[in-house]
Amino acid sequence: DPRIHAIKTRIRVVPNFPKPGIMFQDITTLLLNPKAFKDTIDLFVERYKGKNISVVAGIEARGFIFGPPIALAIGAKFVPLRKPKKLPGEVISEKYILEYGRDCLEMHVGAVKSGERALVVDDLIATGGTLCAAMNLLERAGAEVVECACVIELPDLKVLQGKLLSPSVFMGNRL
Ligand code: 5GP
Repeated sequence: DPRIHAIKTRIRVVPNFPKPGIMFQDITTLLLNPKAFKDTIDLFVERYKGKNISVVAGIEARGFIFGPPIALAIGAKFVPLRKPKKLPGEVISEKYILEYGRDCLEMHVGAVKSGERALVVDDLIATGGTLCAAMNLLERAGAEVVECACVIELPDLKVLQGKLLSPSVFMGNRL
């Protein structure tokens, strides 16, 4: 799809951010171009429209940028998966291990009902640890995770990704 190359050229790579040695993929430059931003959303909408998905779950923080427009376009609700102590209601939590350290995602109890079909959205997959935690939260609530969709896949971290590449997971629109 020619749109994918155009999207890729809009993502800025910032060396040594936030730490020395990290090549940070900056999606804010993609958002500055309305056509590239819309094409990104459209590619996902084309894939998921009509698939009977009732929940789009977005991962804090950049899943909150790409998730809601996809949810609106496919007629699904949007559920934020947040970092600890941000959600005011009762939550379920899922801890996970990052490349450096640990983190946790939380979801409101009752946001998702048993049997709902869910799509998980984030900007980027590296090890896949964050997406795994998101899938666990949704499955604990009884939802079926149809796929996970990310704008960017980092190619260097295949080991843990292998674990994630189960049939229910797809890295949408690999760049
Ligand atoms: P993983 O859990 O797959 O190792 O890391 C993915 C998470 O880290 C995502 O939530 C993503 O937003 C964040 N992340 C890690 N590196 C980058 C990066 O270079 N650019 C962006 N935009 N996000 C990153």
